[in-house]
Amino acid sequence: MKKDIPNISFEFFPPKTLEGLKNLEHTAKALAEYAPQFFSVTYGAGGLTREGTLNTVSMLQNNTEIPVTPHLACLGSTKDNLLEILTHYKNIGINRLVALRGDLPAEMPYAGDFKYAFELVQFIREKTGFHFEIEVAAYPEFHPEAQSAIDDVLNLKRKFDAGANRAITQYFYNPDAYFYFLDKCAKYGIAKPIIPGIMPITGFEKLVRFSKTCGAEIPQWLYKRLAVYANDESATLALGLEVVHELCSRLIKGGAPGLHFYTLNREHASLAILDKLGVLPNSELQNYSPALKSFDVLPHFR
Ligand code: FAD
Repeated sequence: MKKDIPNISFEFFPPKTLEGLKNLEHTAKALAEYAPQFFSVTYGAGGLTREGTLNTVSMLQNNTEIPVTPHLACLGSTKDNLLEILTHYKNIGINRLVALRGDLPAEMPYAGDFKYAFELVQFIREKTGFHFEIEVAAYPEFHPEAQSAIDDVLNLKRKFDAGANRAITQYFYNPDAYFYFLDKCAKYGIAKPIIPGIMPITGFEKLVRFSKTCGAEIPQWLYKRLAVYANDESATLALGLEVVHELCSRLIKGGAPGLHFYTLNREHASLAILDKLGVLPNSELQNYSPALKSFDVLPHFR
């Protein structure tokens, strides 16, 4: 039986080497087969990955048909810096952005014209009108600096009120946290789509390190189960697939408007999840009726 699929998207970071960029080209081509809504490319606050992000955006535009959505982080940048990048993106046909505050490394003193992401959203709307669709970040399990749970909801509302179109969440492994967050958002009058960010699990230590840096939570039941297999890569991958597949199934069943995969520039873990969910690549869609292909919501679930 075929299910409706919410939109999917894939996130990459700008590789540091030419070889990394070549590898990413391969990854992106494999993922493009799944007709994602967009590929996004992260950006280091303070302009730390400026060239890398711009090069990765161009590489993806040149090698795939998938719309590219660059991230833009405002912390540590002046209005002039930001406007230059916005103008560049407009000129090369980009029409969607992820607008963020970003985090600066401790050794980099704060300097820049904006303190918060909602100011960047306001600025993009002021300078470029409605040219860009704007995604912003949301935190079902709280941003590390939030004063309270409601603070996060109010901050998201500020970003929507400033002109954002959609939000993508920090990754989480507890679907109830996401649905609870949606309920709270609805109570505060937020009616725009909030897309869950999905982090496939490929290594215990990597996940723990990464989660500490970005303030994402690994529930204790998951931490303990993964710790058992810390030195067994294939068991970790199998458990990770089981857990994240279950998470995605519950999110889809509960009506999540999309799934945004943090790929870490590798395709295998995301593809394994999609495969288990029954998502088909384009090359296997030949037998579907053309009428279904024109659906707004892509019908590529088995
Ligand atoms: P904001 O929305 O500005 O919020 C930051 C904090 O400030 C929150 O605690 C909020 O409650 C508080 N706050 C906001 N407004 C006010 C106010 N008026 N008064 C008091 N407090 C306020 N980081 C990168 O550097 N590059 C990336 O490419 C990147 N991509 C990301 C993609 C996604 C989908 C997500 C979820 C995160 C991403 N991040 C990225 C990480 C993000 O930049 C950090 O989590 C950062 O700490 C917060 O960014 P923000 O845009 O959510 O900030």
